[in-house]
This record gives sequence, structure tokens and C-alpha cells, in this order.
Amino acid sequence: MSFKDLQLNRPILRAVAETGYDNPTLVQEKTIPLVLNKKDIIVSAQTGTGKTAAFALPILQLLFDRQDVAKKGKTIKALIVSPTRELALQIEENFKTYSTYTNLRSTVVFGGISIEPQKDILKKGVDILIATPGRLLDLHKQDIVNLDYVETLVLDEADLMLDMGFIDDVKKIERLCTREKQILLFSATIPYKVEQLASSILTSPERIEVAQNSSTSKNVNQLLYYVPKRNKIELCLHLLRNTIKGRIIIFRRTKFGVDKLEKTLLKNGYKVDSIHGDKSQTTRQEALNKFKKGDVNILIATDVAARGIDISNLDAVVNFDLPNVPETYVHRIGRTARAGKSGIAYSLCSADEKSYIQSIQQLILLQLDVIEDHPYPLDPKAKPIIHKSKKTGSKHKKGRKSVASKKKKKRWY
Ligand code: AMP
Repeated sequence: MSFKDLQLNRPILRAVAETGYDNPTLVQEKTIPLVLNKKDIIVSAQTGTGKTAAFALPILQLLFDRQDVAKKGKTIKALIVSPTRELALQIEENFKTYSTYTNLRSTVVFGGISIEPQKDILKKGVDILIATPGRLLDLHKQDIVNLDYVETLVLDEADLMLDMGFIDDVKKIERLCTREKQILLFSATIPYKVEQLASSILTSPERIEVAQNSSTSKNVNQLLYYVPKRNKIELCLHLLRNTIKGRIIIFRRTKFGVDKLEKTLLKNGYKVDSIHGDKSQTTRQEALNKFKKGDVNILIATDVAARGIDISNLDAVVNFDLPNVPETYVHRIGRTARAGKSGIAYSLCSADEKSYIQSIQQLILLQLDVIEDHPYPLDPKAKPIIHKSKKTGSKHKKGRKSVASKKKKKRWY
């Protein structure tokens, strides 16, 4: 199938062609016709499948014929709600690219930065608004945002939105829009609470599933290292020195863990930056830009901070801490081996994380390759410990949690 078969207007097709897309991805093939038919949909697809264009292109198409209304009279006709700032920005960039040859206007609003410039843009009028829930409600309360004319509401990364505690905000936003709107719900996974939300606000939705699990697994060499918790940093340094090369993302579960590992890697001369929920929007964006430009080749991230961000061409993903939700493992490793390339995923598993490995393997229907030949085996009897250099690691204490991280228990991402 080609983009032309999807009945998109010329200016949109031109922008798509200039972006370098030859053919629609599977999720685009399935989604675009349904959106153009004004159906409600539930799409289970992850970042990397082309899901943003799957809703952005038909939304632009639906609005295209009415694009020339006086600029002042512009009303928000499409609202895209996204859980994280980075993802919201990325969606906005996509809309801007695909609408190059139209007069449609879009903007993005999110917290963590000054609200005034956002107000100024909104007052001038936009057709498409991309927003994180908190800032959107804030702007609505201040009467800057009018949702009375929203025809299409997109809830992106719905599972993450609910994980982050936005359920009430999302329901409120939905109620603030007109009743007759079309709702497009995108979610990497569809757990029960997403189903519940969908059944409470969507009308006879069509379902689209784009499985990524098996195709991801095929191209990613998935390696597993059993290692005592206290030696994880040493093993990570050992792997970076001897094995892992190129553009790398290292995932940690907590903000504290991210900071700690970043300090150690910096001390050891690596070019590294990090993103997590305690960093300001500007700092996070700078880190991402540095990584994308190649100024640093290692990015350390928590799952929530990295979720949805389009970072492609990765050579390796390191699961420094294993995720307790198996789907998260699939998201993480899905960041390497995109577009038919191959990649390597390194998972460091300590004794208390063994059960996570079982759930992951059950989900992906694959046994990870256990690498026993390394200096810090979990069971020292099975393999002699050859500590090459004790000095290289950090002086971290036993036990993972610091006083600081215990204090900040509420927001661990
Ligand atoms: P997404 O899943 O929306 O985050 O998209 C992941 C990446 O795929 C982005 O870098 C897009 O620019 C790219 N992409 C989206 N649609 C296509 C397509 N039809 N062909 C090639 N790349 C695409």
C-alpha cells in the first residue's frame, strides 16, 4: 500500500514524501482509514511503529478543507493529550512537519516552563493543540483554552497516563470537550484500567493491534548477566570498556539510581547525560539533543522519562535495573534494532530480580542468552571472581536506597 491509497491530500502527501517515508507503516495502514471515517479507535502500538503519523495525518486531512478560516477565528478542533513533556514536543514536531504545506496551526503546552508565551500563542488561535494534562487544565481554568469545538481527542500513551496518576485529569478533559467528538486512544499495552477508561468514554471503538514483541525480539540479541547487586556498577563499567560500543541507553528504575550511575560514568571519562522526572524540562531537552547530535553517546534514563521519545539508531540498550513490569522490558529493547537493523540488549540481573526474568521470558516467549563469562558472577562458586580493578567502580554502599531516595518515595520516576 502507498500513502496515495490512503486518500490524503496533495500538500500532506508532499510533506510525507519530503520527510522520506516511502510507504505507510502497518499501524498507519490500519488506522488512517478509520480516523478519516470518524470512528473511535483503540490502538495498541508502541513508539517506533509510526503511531504519531497514524493519527496526525488523518487529523490534518480532516481539518484541511476548513483551514482557511480567518486566523483569529481559529478554534481548537483537535486535542492531543500526552503524559510527558518530551512526547508532547515530539508530537508537535510531527504535526508541524506534516502540515508544512497547509495553513493549519498547531502548538504545544506543558508544565515546567513559563505559561505566558503559551497563552500568547493560544490567544492567536490554533487548530491543533498538543498538551500534557496538568497545564491544559490550568489554561482551561484561566479561560485561555476553549475545548467546546474539539472534534477529535487523542489520548496518547494511555497506559502511561494512567500509571502516572492522570486518570481524573483525563476524564475531566474528556468532559470539557464536546460530546460528539471522535476519540482515538493509543496505548503501548491495554491493561484492565485502560479498558475501563475506554469503555467509559469511547463509543463502539474499533480495535487495532500492532504487535511488536516478536519482531523486536528477532533482531535484538538479548543477553543476560547474573550479577550481585553490589557489583552492578563494576560490571557495567567492564562491559562499557570491553563489549558495548556505540549509541547506548542505560535504563535505571529510579532517579537516584540514574544520578548515581551518571556520576560514576562521568568520573570514568564517559560522555554521558541523563533524563529523569526531577530534571527541568530544559535540562531534559538539552540532554536529549546532545544525545541525538552525538555529543554524548550514553544516555541514562528512567522508563517514564524515556517513554515515547523517538530515539532511534541505538546500538545497545542496557537494563541496569530490570523492570518489574515485563512489558517495560519490551518497550526498552524496542528502542534498538528499529527498521530492520540489529541491536543488543544487556540485562543485569541481581538475586532479587530473578523473578522478573521469568515474567519477561514468559511474555516474549524466548529465553535470554545467559553470559557466564564475566568477572562478577552471582554465584561465586560457579565462576572464580576476577576483579580486575576494584578502583574503577564507585564507593557505593550496600543496599540500593539512599536516604534521599527514601524521602522522595512518592515520585520515583
Ligand atoms: P512513532 O512511532 O510515531 O514515534 O514513529 C517512530 C519513527 O518512525 C519516527 O522517527 C517517524 O518519523 C518514523 N516514521 C513514521 N512513519 C513512517 C513511515 N511511514 N515510514 C518510515 N518512517 C516512519
